[in-house]
Amino acid sequence: MKKEDLINLVNRPEMISGIYNYCDRWCERCSFTSRCANYAISEQNQSEQKSDPENKAFWDELHNVFQLTLEMVKDSAEEFGIDLDAVDLGNYEEDRKKLEELTMAHNCVRWSKDYITYVNDWFDSAKDLIEEKGEEWESKALLGMPESNIIKETNNLNDIIDVLRWYQYQIHVKLRRAIHGKLEEVDEPDDEFPKDSDGSAKVALIGIDRSIAAWGKMLSFFPDKEDETFKNLVLLEKLRKITEKEIPNARSFHRAGFDDK
Ligand code: SF4
Repeated sequence: MKKEDLINLVNRPEMISGIYNYCDRWCERCSFTSRCANYAISEQNQSEQKSDPENKAFWDELHNVFQLTLEMVKDSAEEFGIDLDAVDLGNYEEDRKKLEELTMAHNCVRWSKDYITYVNDWFDSAKDLIEEKGEEWESKALLGMPESNIIKETNNLNDIIDVLRWYQYQIHVKLRRAIHGKLEEVDEPDDEFPKDSDGSAKVALIGIDRSIAAWGKMLSFFPDKEDETFKNLVLLEKLRKITEKEIPNARSFHRAGFDDK
């Protein structure tokens, strides 16, 4: 895609600026695909898929540009009397490690990581039951249950599984970003700009809410798995509560497009 085409696409009047910044990236289920520049670009790129040799040429060219740019930076630095080797990064590495440790130790991050494991365990242990459910519906079809009912039931179950699997990892990724951002923001002055930590936490909270609803529906399909399902629900509820407490402005964060009236 050429630079001018990209600019024209992003500036199309129907596009909602920045809508893709705080979405859940589930484009297949998104009602804003026609107003999202990110979606339009990825669609366009897919239709312009390059062959392997073309891709190799692209990366080779980029590497050459990288080398040229580095040389330009060195020349300019010399011209302005800047010693690039003397750039003081201060305690950057130490601070970064500390921040990462604090982030990973936070309950939001630890519990959302546990949730990933819980979901995998649930699906591993429910494999046979899910198969049996399919067989049960096949038998019902043979006994005369209308095909439309069976399709509806199957689609319902598949939708629930899709929702749970979609947010399973995303909740953790978004909370990790939110907590990391919040810890970083501690030293920054409070300004009027929306905070990325609030936006990331909001996306996580939406994933949590939808997952809670999906587990609730799952209970009606597999009542035998009540204990394990409740274990997941309790963890999600704890996660929901602690996220709202730790990042109190998350719910009111305004996401372009999605939260417009
Ligand atoms: S806003 Fe919708 S279409 Fe755009 S990237 Fe997000 S999910 Fe996909």
